[in-house]
Amino acid sequence: MATLLCPSSIAKPGAKLFGVQNASGHIEYLDEPIIVDKTFVETARQGRVPEERFRFASNCIKTGCGHWTGEGTGCGLVVRIVDGMNRKAEATLVACAIRERCRWFHQQGATACANCDEIVRNVRIGEAIAGASQTK
Ligand code: SF4
Repeated sequence: MATLLCPSSIAKPGAKLFGVQNASGHIEYLDEPIIVDKTFVETARQGRVPEERFRFASNCIKTGCGHWTGEGTGCGLVVRIVDGMNRKAEATLVACAIRERCRWFHQQGATACANCDEIVRNVRIGEAIAGASQTK
């Protein structure tokens, strides 16, 4: 199987842009991922932090990532997000162009997708989880 993709990658040349945050703070998933280049990344970094308004995917680096918890358990970040957001899986999955290779979907299935569309990288992950916990 091809390497799974981390759906919470930084913006870097070669990363796949697969989602864009809309005005309500939710991610709109692109029909097809766009592989970004150096020019895109440099231009995007001149504005608001790109990882806080776009979603990028790139190869899951497993032990090279602080969220990796081992072959048996995988990515700890998606576990934290699902626990914090606590949304149930929906019968119909949102269309997402990277699903076939998504690490989070591979681990948590439709539950990962149900908790995915308010997530942007860095501080927003903590904020989204904290906000969801407060409204429970
Ligand atoms: S968790 Fe689901 S919606 Fe989110 S990136 Fe992975 S496949 Fe797409």
